[in-house]
Amino acid sequence: MIDLPLVARGKVREVYDAGSDRLLLVASDRISAYDHVLPTPIPDKGRVLTALSVWWFEQLTPVLDSFGAAHHLLSADDVPAEVAGRAMLVRRLTMLPVECVARGYLSGSGTVEYQRTGAIRDVVLPAGLVEGSRLPEPVFTPSTKAEVGEHDEAIDFATVESLVGPSRAVELRELTLALYRRGAEIAEAAGIVLADTKFEFGLSAEGQLTLGDEVLTPDSSRFWPAITWSPGAAQPSFDKQYVRDWLTSSGWDRVSPPPELPDDVVAATRERYVTAYEQLTGRAFA
Ligand code: ATP
Ligand code: MG
Repeated sequence: MIDLPLVARGKVREVYDAGSDRLLLVASDRISAYDHVLPTPIPDKGRVLTALSVWWFEQLTPVLDSFGAAHHLLSADDVPAEVAGRAMLVRRLTMLPVECVARGYLSGSGTVEYQRTGAIRDVVLPAGLVEGSRLPEPVFTPSTKAEVGEHDEAIDFATVESLVGPSRAVELRELTLALYRRGAEIAEAAGIVLADTKFEFGLSAEGQLTLGDEVLTPDSSRFWPAITWSPGAAQPSFDKQYVRDWLTSSGWDRVSPPPELPDDVVAATRERYVTAYEQLTGRAFA
């Protein structure tokens, strides 16, 4: 148990009050699939995703600097011993009520909306795209921050303007696309397609625009192995493919409580997370 007040508990993470201007974000080993938290944890997942997020904050600092923005990470070391390696001490922000999604490839809910309308909200896309297609240019497709249990809903740019004001909306769009481009470039050099991702921003006590939450993890992004990328069907995802395939083959209906994962699926999934970390960062996971 951590001796700090619990502020929130998400599917995968806990948020603790670490003082008036600080929060402690703790990543667990829980894994979710098809919107359910599975009963079997993946050992080391919390440490891998935290290490990845911390690494990305460092990689993205030059982009943030060029916008006069910052990130919220204060320390990944100065954390309680019982959550060492899977916690980040962060600057407490007033979060902006927009999920800043960038897409370089068409996938998931983006494909569904595109097939119906040829666009994602007000972002019109060229004809002839399929699930997994690379977009001519990365696009900003924001969504609302849904309440617990609800799905995020795509919103158009005018709605972002009404939520945060017109100049802040432009800033969010440009910064989101710049962060995505840099992230995608780094991932591509490591043989990984960063298909899309979601950033969350807030304002510091001093009013500085600040990148919060986790960044460019498999939980906030779609990572595909570049070697198997082939538009026209769902792409194998880097991290959860074993789990999703096994859940499908188990006959689980995606409605009732999900089944326990067998040991070999747990081991293979852990291995994929570790490999994703090592391939992206070029560092050994310790
Ligand atoms: P789930 O991810 O399970 O769908 P969730 O998003 O509510 O639900 P978490 O992602 O674990 O759960 O919660 C993290 C919460 O903390 C989010 O609401 C996020 O916006 C918020 N947050 C992240 N960084 C900061 C920060 N620096 N200051 C204040 N709030 C933050
Ligand atoms: Mg979240």
